[in-house]
Amino acid sequence: MVSNTDIIGTYNGKIDLVRNLAISPFSRAYTFSDSIYEVIPFYNRNFFYFDKHFTRLSNSLNALAIEINLQKVKDELYELLKHVIYQNGYIYYQISRGTDPIRNHIQDDGLEAETFGYILEHDYKTQELNIKIVDDLRWGRCDIKSTSLLANVMGMNEAKKENCQEIIMHRDGLITEAGASNIFFVIDGIICTPALGNNILPGITREILIELVRSNGMEIREDKFLIDDLLKSQSIWLTSSTKCIAPVRKIVNLDLNLDLNEPVMNRCIAILDKEFKSNSINL
Ligand code: PLP
Repeated sequence: MVSNTDIIGTYNGKIDLVRNLAISPFSRAYTFSDSIYEVIPFYNRNFFYFDKHFTRLSNSLNALAIEINLQKVKDELYELLKHVIYQNGYIYYQISRGTDPIRNHIQDDGLEAETFGYILEHDYKTQELNIKIVDDLRWGRCDIKSTSLLANVMGMNEAKKENCQEIIMHRDGLITEAGASNIFFVIDGIICTPALGNNILPGITREILIELVRSNGMEIREDKFLIDDLLKSQSIWLTSSTKCIAPVRKIVNLDLNLDLNEPVMNRCIAILDKEFKSNSINL
């Protein structure tokens, strides 16, 4: 892993080492979290499902009415990819509404959106996780990939004290998702995952896995699920662009017997891994 002083980034379209970037504290990303982001994985220096990430980025921008030239955004992302010096990793990229002359909830007319991104090396390998179940304290539009992630941060740091790397969140017993990933589990051979809505981020890995599962003739249910349903599951895993599929080893506040060799989960790991290695688009 590189030292963070060597990270290559971009700010408003200018490529430089991240340590050389100067960003105003009046950026609305800093004062209000008035910004959205994407994490786009690359494998063998090729983006994995770039278009799906770009569509979600554009949906997030629309939802917050942040105006920016999308072609410029795409060009910046591909320009960053040209500077990749690792085989595998990801690009973090965020767009804020802009930089205010002085902090004010109501945006100035004519603000120019502000972009910031960087490249990080990443080793895509299967990682087993310990989990804590916590209340979902987030706002009503978790389907927007906003940088405002305070409830996720609080929950995950609370869970870390119990040697957990992730959380599963619920609202009145209804499972939503994890702190930085989506959740899947297997009950009697059927794959289950909470249906999308305003309380869940539409994960790209989730979407790809569901497509693969269906095209491989496996059964999947997208529905409302309760924490109690986890008690009936033989395996649980989380999905995200950086974790791919991360099997859950144990849940510290739920008494469960999870099988890390459960065949449906292992088949999902294998088909996603194959897709990842074969379907990264060429430059
Ligand atoms: N849910 C949340 C809250 C996330 O933060 C993330 C990723 O950061 C995901 C789900 C997974 O999304 P993706 O598969 O697009 O990385």
